Amino acid sequence: MPASRGAIRMNTWSGRIIPLIAIAANAYVLYVITKSIAVDYLLQPTLNYIPKRRAIATVFIALQYILAIPTFSSWLRYAIAILTNPGYTPQNQKPRRRGSSRTRSSSQRRSRSASRTRDEKRKSDGNMNIDRHAVREGTDPTPPGLEHFYRKQVFTCSTDGVPSFCERCWAWKQDRVHHCKELNRCVSRFDHYCPWVGGIVGETSHKFFIQFAFYASLYSGFIFASCLWAVVQSKKDCHSSPVCNRGWLNPHWIVAIALAGIFGFMAFGITLKFGHSVLKNRTTIEELAMGHPNYCVAIRINPSEIPPVSSDGKPKFWVVPYPFRPQTSGPTDQHSRRNEFLYAILYPKPGSHIWDLGWNRNWRDLMGNHVIDWFLPIKLSPCLDHGNLLSDYPLGKDFEELEKTYLPHRYKNGIRRIPLDEGWVEMTA
Ligand SMILES: [Zn+2]
Repeated sequence: MPASRGAIRMNTWSGRIIPLIAIAANAYVLYVITKSIAVDYLLQPTLNYIPKRRAIATVFIALQYILAIPTFSSWLRYAIAILTNPGYTPQNQKPRRRGSSRTRSSSQRRSRSASRTRDEKRKSDGNMNIDRHAVREGTDPTPPGLEHFYRKQVFTCSTDGVPSFCERCWAWKQDRVHHCKELNRCVSRFDHYCPWVGGIVGETSHKFFIQFAFYASLYSGFIFASCLWAVVQSKKDCHSSPVCNRGWLNPHWIVAIALAGIFGFMAFGITLKFGHSVLKNRTTIEELAMGHPNYCVAIRINPSEIPPVSSDGKPKFWVVPYPFRPQTSGPTDQHSRRNEFLYAILYPKPGSHIWDLGWNRNWRDLMGNHVIDWFLPIKLSPCLDHGNLLSDYPLGKDFEELEKTYLPHRYKNGIRRIPLDEGWVEMTA
């Protein structure tokens, strides 16, 4: 459901204000633990009946900084990531289109019902200006950047066989790219815009966001437990003394318990939710769309693989040639055909997720290949490497199942092979 302008503006402003409130709250709890509990209550109690507790004060101060430092560091690393390398994909200047009038006139020629169907389809794809059909047929110019797709063997596209397109950025959306409305940019492996940390969660920042949530939940848990302990102990101290009358309850401790309870509950929930998503290799957007896959998988095929026909005489799948150009005949056409790539457009099963590599590889793909990377907010995620010529992101079992369904001849003794002009080439993971 599209977010309203008001909701987007509110989210953006929340992203500026909430981090400031969180920083102020952190400074406050730092004061409560160090000054109010450790120094004033445990080390230098002003009331005579309260014993000095140096060991506990030392543990409190040490634990506070042991947990505060990684919490702050992971947030800082997150902030550096979104300020220096937020994972935006390139934008293009939206053309003042000569083509728009042509598009309109060609649309007018179609029947009203066909136009309505097209408009509904274009709306569902989020594209209101580009005429995807005309682009695919080569009658409208192709916006820049399509070559990225046909350099790869596999990519995702819309159900019309054309990659998703962002009208706002005037750019093709590569695999797992989504438009962030708050920042008005397309972001690689975009997850969501988080007002609590003050920015986007995308490919370059997802790992640090999860680390921050994890350390923040530990830190909040410590603040909550230590302040609660101070309240209980102070009450015990008071009741065990004949001179105790009132004033044993420090209001700062109650405020800190409330703050730590709220932040800790949220951070723990975020850690569990996003930890689970990482193990499944799904972004929040992908999780929301799981039951209703709204994309197809384009797999490059050899011309010899084209005509598989099912028992009812219909082609098993639809084939789209890339790059897009007008379909003509004659010698020019034959020359163009030598430079085109054929892609089978396949429909994934509902609930499948072609990038699910199994929980172990999913985790390492985002959090790092070494255990130390899971805890230290330093290195970027391995999934930022898009050098593989097969696809932008590694493909998992659901992709294999899909390919086996439509192109079973590609698998021999469990090994995936792709046909080239020179013969079959075995592919290893
Ligand atoms: Zn965009």
